[in-house]
Amino acid sequence: MDCVDQQNADITCDLIIIGMGMAGMAAALFAAERHIDTVQIGATGELTFASGMMDLLGVHPLKNAQVVNTPWQGIDRLCLDEPQHPFARLPITSIREAMATVLESLKRWGYPHLADPLNNLAVITPVGTIKPTYAIPHTMARGPSALAEHAPCLLVDFHGLKGFSAQQIASSLGQRWPGLRPQRIAFPDATGELFPERMARALDLAANRAKLVAAIRPHIKDAAVVALPAVLGIHETLQAMQDMEQGLGVPVFEIPTMMPAATGLRLKERFEQHLPAMGIRTRYQQNVLGVRKLADGRWLLNGDHNGDAFEIKARAAVLCSGRFFGKGLHAGRHQIRETIFGLPVAQPRDRTAWHHKELFNCQGHPINRAGIVIDNAFRPVDENGQFMHANLFAAGSILAHQDWVRQKCGSGLAIATAYGAIEACKNLLES
Ligand SMILES: Cc1cc2nc3c(=O)[nH]c(=O)nc-3n(C[C@H](O)[C@H](O)[C@H](O)COP(=O)(O)OP(=O)(O)OC[C@H]3O[C@@H](n4cnc5c(N)ncnc54)[C@H](O)[C@@H]3O)c2cc1C
Repeated sequence: MDCVDQQNADITCDLIIIGMGMAGMAAALFAAERHIDTVQIGATGELTFASGMMDLLGVHPLKNAQVVNTPWQGIDRLCLDEPQHPFARLPITSIREAMATVLESLKRWGYPHLADPLNNLAVITPVGTIKPTYAIPHTMARGPSALAEHAPCLLVDFHGLKGFSAQQIASSLGQRWPGLRPQRIAFPDATGELFPERMARALDLAANRAKLVAAIRPHIKDAAVVALPAVLGIHETLQAMQDMEQGLGVPVFEIPTMMPAATGLRLKERFEQHLPAMGIRTRYQQNVLGVRKLADGRWLLNGDHNGDAFEIKARAAVLCSGRFFGKGLHAGRHQIRETIFGLPVAQPRDRTAWHHKELFNCQGHPINRAGIVIDNAFRPVDENGQFMHANLFAAGSILAHQDWVRQKCGSGLAIATAYGAIEACKNLLES
């Protein structure tokens, strides 16, 4: 490896991955497993805000808001109905392998997930609706069966925790789950406004878990299961679940909270901890300011680290820079542009066509399907469908012809397309 990687010295590598959202993290994982010499750079993405649920496909077709119970069959149908959707760029076996690899890694890293091989799971949201999703963290694993069985359930919330009301969840689910009993308690040693991250970090400590058990135990009564907001640790979730269930004597499960949530941080911090150990050279919380192509075909990226400039030279790049929130796309007054490489963005003809008149139009707004169009090798293409650079690939929510929010395919799309981009990149680097 001919790499120099002192902070802010020039860096050379085979692959630069831009982004540390789910697509960037998954791409780095797949690259590490393929022993590709990789640098990953990015600032905070949507991952920090994620609910922790791994959606694969939850709604299709959108026009009649059809909930998908069997996501793999749903993807087959989606690819027939929407051949430009990014899922249609790779075989379903690759999507399965991509999801399995990420879930196996999370298990190895002490944060296992529950996924049904065939069916979506039904999960309660912080507002008391039910959402279909492919995989959930082990801390939520008891939820779908408790919901299906209508088990008598103590639903706990906390004084000072905004955006999570046990009363609201119980009344929204009342018809479907009459055995839900809301109870508000004080979080141990806390006063004033509470935040999920701080609560979860407090519950990484055994002493605080013991205090929480003592605070909940008097309310258990006939409950066969206890539900809590998702605050049961950041790093010690396995031990936290064991202590809570042993202390309370009944199964426990978490319900996701509003963002910023502890669940997104659990994912982010696990990737951040383990990717460097797998050989990825990470430059987190750093920005790419510009890029150009060198005479030898490599990419030269200009970066910024707390005001200090640095350069990265890479044989290939995978762009996982997200949409408007991640800053991969920018919506100007007249058009949407891609912010790093200046790639063409597939988008409605003008601003008046960005949105439907009806806010809740079930088809979703056209702006949400704007993005980078790729070929089957995940290379961005021009208006004529020709790839623009043999050594530039794109993955994740920046891609066009998908609406991950409405289709409920956020993490699945990010992970699957990252897999496709890294496979294509590996083929290039080995050719
Ligand atoms: C509130 C919320 C809840 C969600 N809930 C779910 C859920 O329940 N289930 C689910 O499956 N998915 C969920 N998601 C979606 C999921 O997190 C996203 O689909 C996914 O993170 C998109 O990943 P991405 O990597 O493509 O983009 P992003 O997460 O947006 O990441 C883009 C990355 O690119 C970086 N970047 C951009 N420009 C530059 C630059 N110039 N220099 C350096 N870095 C740059 C950003 O800093 C960021 O790291 C949720 C998202 C949000 C916001």
